[in-house]
Amino acid sequence: MSEERLLHRPIYGGVFGEDGRYALASMPCVSRGLYATRYMVVQPQAGVVLSVSEDKVQALALARLRLHAANDKHQGEPIAAEQAELWPDQPLLTATPAPAPYISRRRRAIYEHSHGHCHYCGTPLDLTGKWHVEHQLPRALGGGDDTLNLVAACVPCNLTKSDSTAIEFVTRAGRAN
Ligand SMILES: [Zn+2]
Repeated sequence: MSEERLLHRPIYGGVFGEDGRYALASMPCVSRGLYATRYMVVQPQAGVVLSVSEDKVQALALARLRLHAANDKHQGEPIAAEQAELWPDQPLLTATPAPAPYISRRRRAIYEHSHGHCHYCGTPLDLTGKWHVEHQLPRALGGGDDTLNLVAACVPCNLTKSDSTAIEFVTRAGRAN
């Protein structure tokens, strides 16, 4: 397991110190048949899990207790690594997953109008990916902004079209139909 794949938030202050050695990680899990989140306080450099709990506050509290106990017994000795097997196989997720990209209703309508494919070359397009909105009949030739005149185009087709004049483009589109 590569360490750069592990996403977590460093914890600062108190018994955790100020060097960001400890981190709060979260991972989705299934608990009693329900989807839940499991929180872990980890020491990534040492590959140690200090605490695991479905409650973030409890995970932090358990980790604090454990660190205090370890500090009392052996000042400076690394935390026992017997819990290292608790590392999950899949990469950890941050507590706040990135929100789904916003797709406007208009852009979605144009995408559906073009059946999810580039209007010119037929390349399948990813709704949330990079694709361009094209005027099928260019504005310069009286093409409107209504959804029926707008089509989805892949990046290469968009670049090709922007190189050609409106007349050339209409001629080409007419040939394709
Ligand atoms: Zn294309």
